[in-house]
Amino acid sequence: MRVNAYAAPAAGQPLAPTTIERREVGARDVLIDIEYAGICHSDIHTVNGDWGPQPFPLVPGHEIVGRVTEVGSEVTRHQVGDRVGVGCMVNSCGECDRCTSGDEQYCVQGMVGTYGATDRDGTTTQGGYSTHVVVDADYVLSIPESLDAAAATPLLCAGITTYSPLKHWNAGPGKKVAVVGLGGLGHMAVQIAHAMGAEVTVLSQSLKKQEDGLRLGADHYFATSDPDTFEALAESFDLVINTVSARIDVSAYLGLLDVNGALVNVGAPAEPLDVNVFALLSNRRSFSGSMIGGIAETQEMLDFCAEHGIASEVEVISADQVNEAYERVLASDVRYRFVIDASTLD
Ligand code: NAP
Ligand code: ZN
Repeated sequence: MRVNAYAAPAAGQPLAPTTIERREVGARDVLIDIEYAGICHSDIHTVNGDWGPQPFPLVPGHEIVGRVTEVGSEVTRHQVGDRVGVGCMVNSCGECDRCTSGDEQYCVQGMVGTYGATDRDGTTTQGGYSTHVVVDADYVLSIPESLDAAAATPLLCAGITTYSPLKHWNAGPGKKVAVVGLGGLGHMAVQIAHAMGAEVTVLSQSLKKQEDGLRLGADHYFATSDPDTFEALAESFDLVINTVSARIDVSAYLGLLDVNGALVNVGAPAEPLDVNVFALLSNRRSFSGSMIGGIAETQEMLDFCAEHGIASEVEVISADQVNEAYERVLASDVRYRFVIDASTLD
């Protein structure tokens, strides 16, 4: 099936309209009529070649929400008409210890990414900036009907990428959590950590978004451009989630951790980050990372967000505005996620 899409023709080139082929709906697949596709900073890193060579032309997009329009003969989990979502992963081996324990994102054979990856049939996966997608039903999530479709779309990456480490590192009552960077991931981290019961602090470059941060559930808000911030908050957090898409001074942020505290990096800048080991030795701190979350955990996150009335704050755009949106994300001028209205691709 030939469908409309927006693709990057080569590294660093503006995206342009194109058509791509979607596979026939197999026995275990669902066909999704895409309603919205979110723009994650990872799409921009990928297209710009920050993470190495990619198979171009490439259709980005790993925050996808739409309606099921066809299901394969063996599919029981989803039905025609259901509102569903697809995140960063469309397949994995399903058999290794990691897959069977719900960590498909760390599959021993490597998860199959939603775009730019080699699918099990040998073709290259293409993402959500498109009108339709065919995905193995086991990697398709149910979107609770109480969530607005556009606002739920960023949960498929920004939501799970922050929910998973917040849960793993026990964010909750009595815990002090700092979120570095109030962008797509950051604004979800603040809402989720607050809903989990933690005391939440935003560490942003400036105080420009302070009102938003406090409205989203933060208890405190500091500008990292102010050197006093690092003194005032020294040794005060149990958990710091770094969502910044660029290099930061990791050692300075480690200094904000209390005994046994953890700095968890979810931001994925092109360049390596330096660590002063003494910032780790002191207070028995750890420096860790986390990549998205498993399928069952993603469903748990969606249900958690529905229960707590949490979603993303989105700016819905038409597909022809995608290049402009990329520029604005790069300039930290996003409140707080761009979401493409896929009907503008018809
Ligand atoms: P985003 O919306 O652009 O947010 C990033 C935020 O970081 C910005 O809003 C800005 O917040 C801050 N920032 C940007 N440049 C900065 C700089 N030079 N110095 C200090 N702060 C800066 O991006 P996103 O979509 O949330 O993604 C964030 C990062 O996470 C990206 O690297 C992305 O690839 C990565 N990511 C990782 C995973 C994973 O599985 N680990 C999943 C998705 C995304 P302030 O204006 O508040 O300072
Ligand atoms: Zn993403």
